[in-house]
Amino acid sequence: MLLNWNFDNSYLKLPNIFYSLVNAEKYDNPQLLLYNETLGKKLNLDVRNLSNDQLALILSGQKDSNYNFFSQAYAGHQFGHFTILGDGRALLLGEHINNENKRYDIQLKGSGKTPYSRNGDGKAALGPMLREYLISESMHYLDVPTTRSLSVVLTGEKIYRDKSLHGAILTRVAESHIRIGTFQFANLYENTDYIKDLTEYTINRHFPEIKDNQNKIENFLIKVMDKQIELVINWMRIGFIHGVLNTDNSSIVGETIDYGPCAFMDNYNPKTVFSSIDHNGRYSYENQPRILLWNIARLAETVLFLINKDQKLAIKKAENILAKFQIIYQKKWLKMMKSKIGLFDENTKDLDLIKELLNIMHVFKLDYTNTFLKFKYDTLNKHECLDNWIKKYKERKLLEKSSKEFLSDLINQNNPEIIPRNHIIEKLLNEAENKNYKNLNYFLEIIKKPYSKEIPEKFKKMPKTNEIVHETFCGT
Ligand code: AMP
Ligand code: MG
Repeated sequence: MLLNWNFDNSYLKLPNIFYSLVNAEKYDNPQLLLYNETLGKKLNLDVRNLSNDQLALILSGQKDSNYNFFSQAYAGHQFGHFTILGDGRALLLGEHINNENKRYDIQLKGSGKTPYSRNGDGKAALGPMLREYLISESMHYLDVPTTRSLSVVLTGEKIYRDKSLHGAILTRVAESHIRIGTFQFANLYENTDYIKDLTEYTINRHFPEIKDNQNKIENFLIKVMDKQIELVINWMRIGFIHGVLNTDNSSIVGETIDYGPCAFMDNYNPKTVFSSIDHNGRYSYENQPRILLWNIARLAETVLFLINKDQKLAIKKAENILAKFQIIYQKKWLKMMKSKIGLFDENTKDLDLIKELLNIMHVFKLDYTNTFLKFKYDTLNKHECLDNWIKKYKERKLLEKSSKEFLSDLINQNNPEIIPRNHIIEKLLNEAENKNYKNLNYFLEIIKKPYSKEIPEKFKKMPKTNEIVHETFCGT
């Protein structure tokens, strides 16, 4: 074995309906394009004695060990319609355990056909894989729960979409790849042991603190719900729109997963949608919390019989849990939005104050990220449209009992100076397609400190009219 993987594939102890053993497509001369040293160190990977070519072979799944690679089965509601899916273009090299005893799924995306590929070729193009690398790493440094990216390898092969493109493989690192859709898949079988096994497995792996609880399954739903709320609050905080919040793209542990047509909002508009396939705005910015609740309801359906044998009683218990989503979400959302403008104490008028601010931002098409930065630099008065609102805000601010330092820390920690804006990402990807990676690497360095004051102005600007990205694509 060339790389010091510390694999322990617990997933393979589940019934074999949940996975298929697979191999990656063979490539003679894959090339390493990006390797994430920081993440590699966190995983305690020792690459010192490896050449880039050796690393490229390993990170494209050209077998270097006796471990079994496997693809996972799952199902999911895609735009509300139920479908059987699975890793059609991905495989797990293994579950790696680092020196701190933390377990990570190491997954290759774009590694070739699997039993779940349906009509697809199992491949991925360079653009979308670089996009996932750039955005997932940005999200990590923006303090948003997310899967991460360890590497991008060029396969050396051309792949065919609407035109010929460079083939690539992304190595994705996740706490796990268990999705709400994994439970929906298990639920297709008459044998109820499958759901039982998966639930036990998920609780032991992600929520061991509740494994001996009497109301374990209810606690499990509460835990999953808390994770999804934390996730979506963070998306709302930075203006992120996932784009395809299908149940198969909802990770149980609440990481942002499957960066397809995701994008960041420039000017504030709650109805913003970028995905070319989201015609009805199902996954718009403002709909995201509601959709995650809908997804959790799909999860709850699969474990009802484990909550109580009496179905009516089980439904009631599950409904009671789900009914709390909106209440918890609203409370946390308000706290987060208040933090963005440096308010902490309770005040009954705060919700209206925030709503009025967002309304003005919407009507006057103000940039979401940069408007909140004006609270950091005390330059709000540059917007005439905010004059009246600022008076109310200043009065409200006088009522705060917390220290100035505490309040300005809140502002600084919740308002990034830089987000991976769509028009910038587009430019970087176009350059990369032409084998120019200079700016891409520079951006990957800058994004490591998104709250710092030293971000170059060119990354902070809204797009010019001719730079605006109106639509994003899944890019499979
Ligand atoms: P995604 O949009 O990446 O979440 O993928 C949705 C489903 O389509 C998943 O089951 C993927 O594995 C599958 N899929 C996406 N692209 C391909 C491809 N090129 N070949 C085979 N399956 C794919
Ligand atoms: Mg997916």
